[in-house]
Amino acid sequence: MCYLLKLDICVKDEAIDYANEKFFADEQDLVEDYLCTLYMNGQIYIDYSLIKAGQHRYYAFVNVPQVESIEEKYNNEYVNRSYKYIDIKIQEAEKNISYNPNCNCKIIPYYILSPDYEIGTSSPLICGKCGNEIPLYKIPHLFNEKEHYSLLKYQKIYASVYELYFQSLSDRFTKNQLVNHNSALNKKAFEIREELEEKMGKPVYVDLPRGLLNWRGAKKDYGEKCPKCGKNLVKCEYQLCSDEMLKCDDCRLITDTTE
Ligand SMILES: [Zn+2]
Ligand SMILES: [Zn+2]
Repeated sequence: MCYLLKLDICVKDEAIDYANEKFFADEQDLVEDYLCTLYMNGQIYIDYSLIKAGQHRYYAFVNVPQVESIEEKYNNEYVNRSYKYIDIKIQEAEKNISYNPNCNCKIIPYYILSPDYEIGTSSPLICGKCGNEIPLYKIPHLFNEKEHYSLLKYQKIYASVYELYFQSLSDRFTKNQLVNHNSALNKKAFEIREELEEKMGKPVYVDLPRGLLNWRGAKKDYGEKCPKCGKNLVKCEYQLCSDEMLKCDDCRLITDTTE
């Protein structure tokens, strides 16, 4: 579930000395900095709109995974550099049903790194039990970052490669990036997976789709064996799609059958 919020933003103009500010040159810059940094911190999605509503006053329409995600307690230091100069009120909050649902499971057995093809309006991490998204603002920052740089960039690169594969009539290079566990794209995925697992304290698997990419009738890639270690794949406890999902617990990868 997602919410569309109308934010009423007032800038405390008298408190700002723009000549000595490093990150914003004027008032509009300041409000845009607030929204951009909220996005990079996973507190809002990328598709926001900003309207000038009067002197030192703006309306922002933002889609958020949960209404609470824009609360101050989730801010990072980048958000706070503009937040201290503005007053914000939530004027309206409505459910936006066109977004993927979020996970509400009490106990999550494991997570799956499974980037959607929608850039900036979804989370690349899903619950292994219900298949719904884990909002980014609930995920710890990775690799000593102070925002979700690695996860958002990975999602963008994945979506770009995926799009190129489908638009270029099954290009071999892009297919290899998606299905080969050793490709540059998937090496990045396994690095992120390892870091996520350490930070979240639960197993995190990489999703390696095979059936989806064989829709043109290509032959099996590596059958029921793990493509990484060669051991037999086992059936996932929770089946999230119509294709049978298999996994290798040693290599932390999840894939589908190719038949
Ligand atoms: Zn769940
Ligand atoms: Zn394996």
